[in-house]
Amino acid sequence: MRLSAREAPRLDRSLLRRGVGRLAEGRERCHHCRRTPLIGERVHIYKSGRMLCELCRALRPEDPISSRLVHGPAFGHAVRITDQRAAVAAPQRGEPE
Ligand SMILES: [Zn+2]
Repeated sequence: MRLSAREAPRLDRSLLRRGVGRLAEGRERCHHCRRTPLIGERVHIYKSGRMLCELCRALRPEDPISSRLVHGPAFGHAVRITDQRAAVAAPQRGEPE
């Protein structure tokens, strides 16, 4: 199948739109404004299970049951270096060698 030069950009745009749409399906959205909260933004969960962003919280008179920060996709994947070879190998001051 050969596409003309005019059809190729349309296919690119179509594939891009489809990919962006699939990425957006898995994201959390504010129940009121439908905006995806930013990383580091505080979101609020209400008794009904609805999540509101910081901007829309002022629209609800009741207090949320919980609030939390929005984390990035790498959250929880950090590795802490626990190598203690240097502490064991180095003689302490005042100790005979
Ligand atoms: Zn909102």
